Order: sequence, then structure tokens, then C-alpha cells
Amino acid sequence: MSELPGIVVVGVSGRMGQMLVREVRASEKMRLVGAVERAGHDWIGQDLGVAMGGPEMGVTVSDDPVETFAKAQAVLDFTAPAATLEFAELAAQARAVHVIGTTGFTEDELEKLKPAARHAVIVRAGNMSLGVNLLTQVTKQVSAALDLDWDIEIIEAHHNRKVDAPSGTALMLGEAAAEGRGQVLSEVTDSGRDGMTGARKRGDIGFAAIRGGDIVGEHEVLFATAGERISIRHVASDRALFARGALTAALWGQDKEPGEYDMLDVLGLKR
Ligand code: NAD
Repeated sequence: MSELPGIVVVGVSGRMGQMLVREVRASEKMRLVGAVERAGHDWIGQDLGVAMGGPEMGVTVSDDPVETFAKAQAVLDFTAPAATLEFAELAAQARAVHVIGTTGFTEDELEKLKPAARHAVIVRAGNMSLGVNLLTQVTKQVSAALDLDWDIEIIEAHHNRKVDAPSGTALMLGEAAAEGRGQVLSEVTDSGRDGMTGARKRGDIGFAAIRGGDIVGEHEVLFATAGERISIRHVASDRALFARGALTAALWGQDKEPGEYDMLDVLGLKR
């Protein structure tokens, strides 16, 4: 009947899952065709709208991604690394665009996404907002212009339910700062300082994480040297902005070749 791309939201009861459902339902460019939660969750078998505390939506929450993805042109995934790896394989089998907002992957886990990206489009970003993606570009430029006498610190703040640190966005910013001055982030990361740490090492990139209340996401990149400081900051005040970025990525990916992409590709910000 409809030719609009069919969208499946996984982790549908989560903070981002519910936000994605609202945004997909509000969009005229796509339709919600499925909703997945983990096996054993209260919502399984219920109408999604009713489970979310509103009117019926005609979409039943399922714990079977294989069956659900068969109807999908895109899968929106803000869950957890182990779940996302499983979904990547299944989304690739269904040739659906897999939009991954999940953060907290290890290097090994990121490697495991690669086979799926040979068969389908994956768009993965630790942050789906235009503002933060612009911030990564600016961070890279500023970093490239300064020498190692400038200490770089990345300070992030999030709500008290966040399970990983530093945030995916902080790591994106760290990567950008490292790349700007020709470093490999893993070789210069300084995070989780506590106790007798010794003096700061020249050229390190430091991370500090604040957790509290309902903070949606705040990131500051601080460049500090003797006598002056530069600070670049982004504040997200509504997580709908991440969901809208994911929707943009799902549509953008529809006519792309299989491969792994990020929001800089989607937003046309790659130089
Ligand atoms: P949340 O805990 O509220 O939601 C996660 C959901 O995933 C839960 O409903 C959980 O039941 C579900 N889930 C876990 N394993 C599953 C499985 N095997 N099958 C189906 N569902 C499963 O968390 P949240 O605040 O919504 O964040 C989720 C992820 O998105 C985190 O990694 C967070 O850092 C990330 N995030 C990314 C961005 C971005 O722009 N990239 C923005 C916000 C959050």
C-alpha cells in the first residue's frame, strides 16, 4: 500500500527507543512497521501504543528480530553493544539500513560490525546531532592549529542512568582532537584520574565525566596553555534531537552502497 520506508525500532522501551517511536510516527517520510524488545520484557506481545501509555498503534512489541526485520528498510538501534552486534548481522541479512546510536563498544566489538557492513549500510555515530558533529570538525581544526603546549581536556556531563564513560561523544571529540595533531587517541588518553596521578603528561588528551540528574548531554573541549584557554561547548537539552538525526540517517542510507558510514557522511560535513 504505502511506499514509505518501513522502520523498526529496537530497544523500544528505552529512553531513546520511545523517543524514536514518537519521531517516526510524527514523520511523513517513513512508517513504523515493527518494535523489538529483549526477551522476557513486560512489553512483549503488547500493542506498542498501549505499552507506551497511549492509544493503540497497531504494532505489537516482539522479541523476534528475524521476523520483524523482514519488513524493514531501516532498523533504528539505541540499545547496548552486545545487542547491537546481533542486530547488525540480522539487519544485514534483511538488507535493511542499520542506524546505530549505541555507545560503549570495545575495539573488538567494533571489528565485529565489519562483516555486516559488507552486505548492508550501517550508519553509526556516538552522537547524531548536527551541533556535535560540527563540533568535532571545529575541534580537529583548532587542535591542528595548536602545538603540544596546549593541554586538551574533554569534559562531559550526562544523566545518572548512563552506564558508559567517557561518553561516545567525548570519545568522538577525543578522536577529532588527536587526529588534528597527528596522534592516536588510545596512546594519549588520560581518563579516570584519581589519587597520586603525577603531573599531567605533555600531549595527553584528558577526559572527565560528570553524572547527575536528568542531564541530556553536555560536552566541552578545553584547550589550555600558559596564560590562555579556548573552550568549545555543546549542550543538548532535548534527546529528540538525537532521534531526528537517526531518522535523517535512515532515509539517507536508503540508496547508498553497503558500508560503514557516520553522521559526517549523512550531514555532508566530511572534507
Ligand atoms: P536505555 O537503557 O533507556 O534503553 C536501552 C534499551 O535497549 C532498553 O529498553 C533495553 O531493554 C534495550 N535492549 C537491551 N538489550 C536488548 C536486546 N538484546 N534486544 C532488544 N532490546 C534490548 O538507554 P538509552 O538512554 O535509551 O540509551 C541507549 C544507548 O544509546 C546507549 O548506548 C546511549 O549511550 C546511546 N545514546 C546515543 C545517542 C547518540 O546520539 N548516538 C544519544 C543518546 C543515547
